[in-house]
Amino acid sequence: MAKVIHWFRRDLRLLDNTALTNATDKGQEVICLFILDPGLIEAPEVCKARLAFMYSALAELARKLEDRGGRLIIRRGEPLSELRKILKESGAKALYFNRDYTSYARHRDSQVEETLTQEGWEVNSYKDLVIFEKEELLTGNGAPYTVYTPYKKRWLSQVAELIPAKMEPRWTSLKIEDATVNGLESLPLPQVSPEFEKAFFMPAGEDEGRKRLAAFAGALAHHKQKDGASHPPIEEYATRRDFPAENGTSKLSAFLRFGTISPRQCYRAAINARERAEKVAQKDGCDSWIGELIWRDFYYQIMWNFPYVAKQSFQARYSQLKWSDNQEHFKAWQAGRTGYPIVDAAMRQLNNMHWMHNRLRMITASFLTKDLLLDWRLGERYFWQKLVDGDQPSNNGGWQWSASTGTDAQPYFRIFNPVSQSQKFDPTGAFIRKWVPELAKVPDKYIHEPHTMPRALQEHLGVVIGRDYPAPIVDHKTAREKALLAYKI
Ligand code: FAD
Repeated sequence: MAKVIHWFRRDLRLLDNTALTNATDKGQEVICLFILDPGLIEAPEVCKARLAFMYSALAELARKLEDRGGRLIIRRGEPLSELRKILKESGAKALYFNRDYTSYARHRDSQVEETLTQEGWEVNSYKDLVIFEKEELLTGNGAPYTVYTPYKKRWLSQVAELIPAKMEPRWTSLKIEDATVNGLESLPLPQVSPEFEKAFFMPAGEDEGRKRLAAFAGALAHHKQKDGASHPPIEEYATRRDFPAENGTSKLSAFLRFGTISPRQCYRAAINARERAEKVAQKDGCDSWIGELIWRDFYYQIMWNFPYVAKQSFQARYSQLKWSDNQEHFKAWQAGRTGYPIVDAAMRQLNNMHWMHNRLRMITASFLTKDLLLDWRLGERYFWQKLVDGDQPSNNGGWQWSASTGTDAQPYFRIFNPVSQSQKFDPTGAFIRKWVPELAKVPDKYIHEPHTMPRALQEHLGVVIGRDYPAPIVDHKTAREKALLAYKI
C-alpha cells in the first residue's frame, strides 16, 4: 500500500479535515506527523497560553489516533529538513497538508513545496483554514477586495454552492500499517504548563470545539432569556455581542485558530440555526455571527494579497504618521493603569485570561493609537504576546482597522470616547468591577469616570484617585484634538 504523510499544523482535528480526507480517500497508508518548530515555539514573543492550548489539542489528537490504532509522530526541528528525513525513513511518496496564509507560513510552505517537489516527492496542499482563500473572490476588475461590504456580498453569493447546509462533515478513515508507524521515532509531547490547565479556554481539542459550537449554535443549545424564553445564544448574538459583561459570543477563536474546529463546521451550524430560528431578530443573530466568519476570511485574503501589511500600514500615507514614543504611557496601557476604567478592565482581562472581548479590543486599540498616539504595531505585538487566539491576519486587520491605517478602516476622525463607550457597553460597570476590584464600591454614577468623584467620597470609599487608582493619564478631549492633527496627512 502506498504511504503518504499528513503534516498537521493548524488543523488539529480528524473531522472535516480537507488534506487528511484527501490523503485517506485514495486508500493510502497515512502517517500523521506534527513538527515542533523552534522558530515558532521558541520565538521570544511566543504566548505561553497559546502554546498550552496547542499542546493540549495535540495530546487529544494523539489519543484519538491511538484509539484508531494509529500514532501521532512528533518531531522537532526546522520543518523542511524534518520532512525530508521522515519522507526518507518511512518510504512515503507524498506529503499532504492544509494551506496557511501568514507571513511565516507562506515563506516556509513555498520553500517546502518547491524543494521537495524538485527532489521528487509529490506535495499536495489544500484550502481548509478558511472558506474562501487567496484570489478566489475578486472584484469585477479582477482585483482583490479591500472593502468588507462588497466582499461580504460576494462571499454570501458563492458560499451555498461550496458548503451545502445539509452536507455532513466527514471523519477521516485512516489506514494504519503498524509496522511502519511503530518503527518511526517520535518525541514525547511537551507538557501543558499547570498554570493553564484550568484556564477558560481549556480543555482544548476537537471534542471541546464541537461541544462549544453545539452549545452556541446547535439544535439543543439554550440560553435563558430575561423573559423566560430560551434560545441558542447565536440567536441573540446581534443584541448581546457588544456587552463584555455578558457571555454573548462563542469564544471559539482559539479553536478556529488551531483548527480544532473548521470554519465550515461553524458556517454550517450557523445556517442550520438560521433555518430553525423563528423570528427575524433571531435570524439576524445568525447572520451577524456569519458576518464575523466573513471578517476572518476577509483579513486572511488581505494578508495574502497585500503581504506588506504585516509590517506597514495598508494606507501608505500613514507611514509618515509621527507616533509618540512615551514609554510610560505604553506601560500604563499594558498594565491596565490608564485611569480609564473600561480600558484598564479590558487590559487586565487580556493579561489574566489571554483573551479579550471584541468590543474591548476595539476600545483599547483606539485608546492606544488615538488617545496615546502610540504606533499600532506596538499594540499588535503586545496582543500577539498575550492572546490565546493570536492570529496574524485578524490581529493585524483588527489593529489597522482601529488605527485607521488599514483596509476599510474606521475613518481617522472617528475616535472612540472611552467614557461613552464604557457607558454604552458596560452600563452598570459590572465588567469594570470584575477586573478592576479597587473600583468595586464606586457608585454607578462615577464608575466610568472615577476621578470625577468628590474627594470626600473617594476618602469615604477608600478609593483615592492617584493613590488607589490612577488619574487619567491623558485628557481624552485634548488627546483627540492632537490625534486629529497628527492624522491629517
Ligand atoms: P465571536 O464573536 O463568537 O466570532 C466568531 C468567530 O469569528 C471568532 O472566533 C473569530 O474567529 C471570528 N471573528 C470574530 N470577529 C472577528 C474580527 N473582527 N476579525 C476577524 N475574525 C473575527 N481575532 C482572532 O481570532 N485573533 C486575533 O489575534 C485577533 N486580534 C484582534 C485584534 C484587534 C485589535 C481587534 C479589534 C480584533 C481582533 N480579533 C482577533 C477579532 C475578534 O476580536 C476575535 O476574533 C473575537 O473577539 C473572538 O471571540 P469569539 O470567538 O467569542 O468571537
